[in-house]
Amino acid sequence: MSRGLNRHQERVQAVAGLGRNLSRRAGNRCELCADRTSLSVVEVEPLPEEPDEDAAVMVCERCQRAMAGGRGAPPPEELRFLENSAWSDVAPVQVAAVRILRRMAGEDIVWARDLNDTLYLGDAVLARLG
Ligand SMILES: [Zn+2]
Repeated sequence: MSRGLNRHQERVQAVAGLGRNLSRRAGNRCELCADRTSLSVVEVEPLPEEPDEDAAVMVCERCQRAMAGGRGAPPPEELRFLENSAWSDVAPVQVAAVRILRRMAGEDIVWARDLNDTLYLGDAVLARLG
């Protein structure tokens, strides 16, 4: 097995290991939409050297697809819950929500553009968004 693959597997395990603390923070709900089904841990860039709960979110399968973007992304009208989670005071949650929002704003989704225009983002979050 290649060293790169080993490192990848170590990271996957370390990310999964965040699940317990993240479940507590998230109250066993998706941190973006509050759904309770099929939750998993997803890292939020920029990635620290070691996986950290401050750079990860607990999300459902739909929100995972929303974060990944592309063809698998849910239609914008299924993502109106971002109107709440984009205001989250948990930095990685807000970063994940605003990334999805900005992508949709760039695709001229009106509500996403309006929300993006009204959001107040702290310096730390802005720095992470890049
Ligand atoms: Zn969700």
